[in-house]
Amino acid sequence: MDKIYKKNLFGLSIDEIQTIADENGWPSYRGAQIFRWVYQGVADIDEMSNLPLSAREALKKQYQIFHLQIIKKIEEKKTKTTKYLLRTEDDLLIEAVLLRYRHGNSLCVSSQAGCSMACVFCASATGGLKRNLSAAEMLSQVYVVERDTGQKISNVVMMGSGEPLDNYENTIGFLNLISDKDTRNLSKRNITLSTCGIADKIVLLADSKTGVNLSVSLHSPFQDQREMMMPVAKNFPLEKLMEACSYYVQKTKRRITFEYALIAGVNDTLGHGQALAQLLRGLNCLVNLIPINQASNPTLKSSNDEAIAAFAEILTKKHINTTVRRTLGSSINAACGQLKSGFYKEV
Ligand code: SAH
Repeated sequence: MDKIYKKNLFGLSIDEIQTIADENGWPSYRGAQIFRWVYQGVADIDEMSNLPLSAREALKKQYQIFHLQIIKKIEEKKTKTTKYLLRTEDDLLIEAVLLRYRHGNSLCVSSQAGCSMACVFCASATGGLKRNLSAAEMLSQVYVVERDTGQKISNVVMMGSGEPLDNYENTIGFLNLISDKDTRNLSKRNITLSTCGIADKIVLLADSKTGVNLSVSLHSPFQDQREMMMPVAKNFPLEKLMEACSYYVQKTKRRITFEYALIAGVNDTLGHGQALAQLLRGLNCLVNLIPINQASNPTLKSSNDEAIAAFAEILTKKHINTTVRRTLGSSINAACGQLKSGFYKEV
């Protein structure tokens, strides 16, 4: 028989919780009390000690507090990068990666179980899309890792499995919740959303005034090659994508980061560097070069250090801000493009 799920209080907005309080005829301050308990991270409705027993019992009939469950942790000793395997209520396994930097802890959050974008170099799409994650499931990744480590997460990057702009409503819900002063109060400046380039949603995001940092996975300055690497480029050609990026910069006054994973002999030539510089000319942006990880495709080899340095130099000579990303977590399959999702089977 299917499990009967009670609704999860965790993930609801203050308005939704206030409605529950109103429907029960409780005084108006109850909604705010419940909201604060939920986002202080209580594991159980019974812990809401300033609620009368009758209110707790009434809540428990329909609601619960559900967090993702930690199934396994794998740590890369050298860098202290930790991959968390987390179980959803319907037994899907998703992954989040804790990256420890000098400036604080950063969590790489998944926005979907699997992914439908099918970028040829990325493992997250190998089983296709299983389903979108809810705002609660995205936020819970932050809560469970903080609880597990006893340390605060100071930065969130939406670079786990999934395409956040393919799960737009829940992603916005997550961003609003995590930055709410009564929940985690995380500054939008400390949140980065990474997209494969869903141009129309980039425009929506700019208009939504969400104000997060935007990363765009570019990987090639040529339309035909980008289509081969990232099928999404067929729907959102480079011209449309660049228009949307300019709009984002203009609306938010924020610099965009372009992710560029270097593959030896494929997208690291002089011609690529020059075309990339031309494409980005005049835009307030930064190019983040990443040595490609052999995630799903063993035929793709990373450019070597000299080739990466030479590529960076082409860009900097043309006055394009460029950094090379340090690879963290590849020994535990936790680096870019290596995250997958699966089903949890109890043994
Ligand atoms: N769907 C979003 C976020 C997930 S991937 C996006 O596409 O941006 C996070 C980053 O890892 C993206 O820049 C993605 O292009 C990159 N990536 C995927 N596979 C990779 C690989 N094998 N090596 C290096 N980077 C990879």
